[in-house]
Amino acid sequence: MSRIVYVNGDYLDEADAKVSVFDRGFLMADGVYEVTSVLDGKLIAFDGHIERLGRSLSELDMASPVAMDELLGIHRELVDRNDLIDGLVYLQVTRGAPADRDFEFPDPEETPSTLVLFTQSKPGLADNPQAKKGIKIISIDDIRWGRRDIKTVQLLYPSMGKMMAKKAGADDAWLVEDGQVTEGTSNNAYIVKGNRIITRQLSNDILHGITRAAVLRYAREAQMEVEERAFTIAEAQGADEAFVTSASAFLMPVVEIDGAVLGDGKPGPVATRLREIYIEESRKTAI
Ligand code: PLP
Repeated sequence: MSRIVYVNGDYLDEADAKVSVFDRGFLMADGVYEVTSVLDGKLIAFDGHIERLGRSLSELDMASPVAMDELLGIHRELVDRNDLIDGLVYLQVTRGAPADRDFEFPDPEETPSTLVLFTQSKPGLADNPQAKKGIKIISIDDIRWGRRDIKTVQLLYPSMGKMMAKKAGADDAWLVEDGQVTEGTSNNAYIVKGNRIITRQLSNDILHGITRAAVLRYAREAQMEVEERAFTIAEAQGADEAFVTSASAFLMPVVEIDGAVLGDGKPGPVATRLREIYIEESRKTAI
């Protein structure tokens, strides 16, 4: 079934939606994005995603194509027009399409930024069978740029990381810098020791996950301890449990790291419980 997508003010059939070949998102990866999940037709953690979008834009000195308070209406319109029940809304802003290719940023008065949104249907998003089995992780070097706190569309290395994982018979990769895990290719990384959840502290080295913020809040409310610090792959391999979080996967248990099986090789009680809480609370607070 063909989707209705949003491009610069218009709702179009996906076959008719076009962006210029001179768009800086296409030529320079000069763009930022957000992915907001939808459960029962409602948006999860919408405010957090829009706040982070505002921060990504301002860190890159990029103008917002529409007033930030118009974005909720656009998201809802797309969800409605596509009859989206469970799935994702992808939003991308680029620095627009100047008259010619140039390294210098175009004058925003002459070159408006480009705004594109589309939906992705994922029936049963909250019942992903993988969450019952857990995922296998490999570790790879983190060779990304130094501003990973900005959610840019420069996703070549994360894509390569997922391909390396697939080739190695695993599901995803954790990125390691100076001997310590930064995050996953498209998620934040955690280990669990007893009642304690350990995840890397916020800095420019990782994306400040919207799901991370919610999961840590729920963990604290459930009387779990939270320690925000870096950890090594060796420490993770000796942990009781591990998991990752992202808007699209929610909380996904990790059962193997570089060939070392965690515990009994099944998702542990902390990850399983936190996933349940996250989905339950997200449904309650969705808009
Ligand atoms: N880290 C990276 C590198 C990501 O790409 C993502 C999501 O795409 C995350 C973390 C998780 O962020 P969020 O929970 O906001 O989806």
